[in-house]
Amino acid sequence: MVTTRKRDVREEDVNIIKEKVPDSRSVSGSEKIIRKETDMKNNFKILITTLAFFVLAFMSFRMNAKAEGEPIKIYTADDLLTVQENIYADYILMNDIDMAGIDWTPVDYFGNFDGNNHAILNLNVKTVSKEIRTTYDGNYKTYDTCFAGLFGVLENGSVRNLTLKGLNVKVNKEEPCFIGSIAGFAEGSTIENCSIEGTLRLDVSAKMFGVGGIVGYGGNGSILSTNADVTLICIDHDKENRDEQFMGGGYSAGYLDVDKCFIKIDGYDSDHGYVHDGGLVGMYILYPFGNNYAGYINNTRVEGMITFFEDNTDRRAYCKDFIGEVMNWTYEYVGNSSDFTRNEIKDYSKDLLPHYCEDNDFTKETVESTCDEFGYTLYKCNTCDYSYKADYTLKNHNITEWTDEIEATTESEGLAKGVCSTCGSEVYKIVPVKEPEVIEEPEIVIEEPEYPSKDDAEPTTVEMDTDNTFLGVVLIVGLIICVGLVAAIIVVLIKGRKRR
Ligand SMILES: [Zn+2]
Ligand SMILES: [Zn+2]
Repeated sequence: MVTTRKRDVREEDVNIIKEKVPDSRSVSGSEKIIRKETDMKNNFKILITTLAFFVLAFMSFRMNAKAEGEPIKIYTADDLLTVQENIYADYILMNDIDMAGIDWTPVDYFGNFDGNNHAILNLNVKTVSKEIRTTYDGNYKTYDTCFAGLFGVLENGSVRNLTLKGLNVKVNKEEPCFIGSIAGFAEGSTIENCSIEGTLRLDVSAKMFGVGGIVGYGGNGSILSTNADVTLICIDHDKENRDEQFMGGGYSAGYLDVDKCFIKIDGYDSDHGYVHDGGLVGMYILYPFGNNYAGYINNTRVEGMITFFEDNTDRRAYCKDFIGEVMNWTYEYVGNSSDFTRNEIKDYSKDLLPHYCEDNDFTKETVESTCDEFGYTLYKCNTCDYSYKADYTLKNHNITEWTDEIEATTESEGLAKGVCSTCGSEVYKIVPVKEPEVIEEPEIVIEEPEYPSKDDAEPTTVEMDTDNTFLGVVLIVGLIICVGLVAAIIVVLIKGRKRR
């Protein structure tokens, strides 16, 4: 791909240069102004053409090397961690990635993230991201809020074609906080063709908080063709304050458009305050304040149950299959269906959880991965019938041959590609840095002491040095030729001008 582009640029450049000749400034400096001069002799034209050809070819190579506009490829867990370093770049997943054993710090992200139909397994999130955004309760009271998820804040960006399996978000906060799987907060963003399976739990003692299956708090934007199979837990620990609490299998509060989604929710919500719970959305409210447009929730199915209590004298207890509380009625709503249970509990003495057994005695059942399916461990309670899946494992492809995409050197890692002979999937692996060959030399010397050690060791060293020296000489000679050419052209140009 890079080569094709380079060739295109070269041909164009040559055509331009056949008509136009650069002045001295454009050759020696970085300015690309090319002025037309018709009185130059043909052979100088050829000289300049050749030189400019190389300069422009080199520039185009550099531009391609930077790959501006092309997403950065993510092959490993380490690569995924580097997203923190460039939060405006676009990324594309090249492999399924197992994040087991790594605590992920949510990234505030402003680019386009393409999962490329790959999965991130066992993502563990325990902290919030840096950015603070304003959220509203039903009275449009504002709160400075923090967020957690794969991304904390997702703004003017997108997440597409991504699977999250065995996601585990577990955050404990005293400040206003929303958690979600793809993002804690999404504004001006699109989430499309994603699939999420996991558990999200927020323990909190603030006045404003929520848990969403895909997004925590949604500004404007959309969630399209996305499936979520989530267990959501929200526990309010400051019993004396009447809080604003939100939960939704899609998102807990906000005004994101939704189309062609499938939500399976198992929600547990313990609140001493105002509950806003929905199989899809807890509270449907325009964002930001003062904005006014029609939204839509279409072609979406919700299945599951929310178990909740609202410990409150001034009771509202919003909990419905799609939208808990509707603040803005300007929206389209067609093609939706649900199988949802509103499970209200009036016992406020204990926090609501999916599982209560105190001894936590589980039987483990391991399901091995195959070419098509991730493996996992099924944890079954020995006392009750509660079970859950965790510890996902990467797919087990049948790869007999690896080919180098990037060859490893003594200084940098390489990259190898394998193709599964059963399913045709492409898998990449990092090839470790090569051991320097020099290390082996003393061994040879020790094994054969009768040879003078220097004579034996030197040929190998010399060979390597010759290669490097030869390269160096070629480079230096090339450089001298280029400098000479430039000097010659400058002289000719100056002379040509003086003649005029
Ligand atoms: Zn149990
Ligand atoms: Zn396979």
